[in-house]
Amino acid sequence: SKERGTNRYAFYSREMRGEIQQKTILINGLYRALEKQELLLYYQPQVDILTGRITGVEALIRWNHPGLGMVQPSVFIPLAEQSGLIHSIGEWVLRTACEQNKRWQDIGLPPIRVAVNLSPEQFKNPKLVAIVKNVLEDTRLPPQYLELEITESVAVKEAETVIRSLRQLKELGVSIAIDDFGSEYSSLGRLRSMPVDRIKMAMCLIQDLPTTPKDEAIAKAILYLARNIGVRVVAEGVETEQQLEFLTRWSCREVQGFYFYRPMPAEKVEEILRQGQ
Ligand code: C2E
Ligand code: CA
Ligand code: CA
Repeated sequence: SKERGTNRYAFYSREMRGEIQQKTILINGLYRALEKQELLLYYQPQVDILTGRITGVEALIRWNHPGLGMVQPSVFIPLAEQSGLIHSIGEWVLRTACEQNKRWQDIGLPPIRVAVNLSPEQFKNPKLVAIVKNVLEDTRLPPQYLELEITESVAVKEAETVIRSLRQLKELGVSIAIDDFGSEYSSLGRLRSMPVDRIKMAMCLIQDLPTTPKDEAIAKAILYLARNIGVRVVAEGVETEQQLEFLTRWSCREVQGFYFYRPMPAEKVEEILRQGQ
């Protein structure tokens, strides 16, 4: 019948549109997520292997969606980038992370660095440096306690404007880290000429240590090079004793990974810092 035909059409088209609809629902929700205070930051500690102390935390965004529960950034950050929302979300992350770190310092906890992820999209904003400057002034966090994480793809571009932005950011007194180093591009050679303080060795290199000879060679090469040009290294995604042993043996000083801590709410970080770790 005509009715059944219509239903069937509706059914199939719903199936096909499912993914797009899901995306649209998420983007619409994301527009209101900021004002409805559904976004929050988790923090994952970075640990100095030798002293066992927390040297910094990376701010990692979460979306507490009223219907879907916790939505992971790998799902909604790409949508925020496509829709342009990344600019307001990115500024919110920056401000919230700096405010939080200042609060920890103000209550007398040992000062640590907070690392904030910057999307490549944010580098297209000519106001980026001014925004960071503003946030530092407003929150009164001393700049040396803010680190900005940029992706390898931004870092290797060597675009005039990117390099200029990085220099200006460094002039503010913040530090710059290259995220997921060694995962895609081989920017080892360019590292020397780039205004960066730290590299974060990619999780994919760490995960198969020390059983995969090729990853082992790359990891060693990165550690060796970084040490010789005075760039610090944080190894990401450390989950096992064996990985930690390998990194210690090759003089990687700092690690971030589930072996020590998972990303956690701010209160939990505070508790750990209070206990003197
Ligand atoms: P990322 O910047 O590389 O962040 C590290 C990710 O690795 C986090 O996932 C963290 O939970 C996870 N991780 C840390 N240690 C381990 C480990 O030992 N094992 C495993 N399997 N995973 C580990 P998360 O929080 O889901 O974030 C995913 C990505 O989303 C981030 O990757 C980053 O690219 C993006 N992201 C997160 N927060 C922000 C933000 O505020 N702004 C922007 N632009 N991107 C963000
Ligand atoms: Ca990161
Ligand atoms: Ca990373």
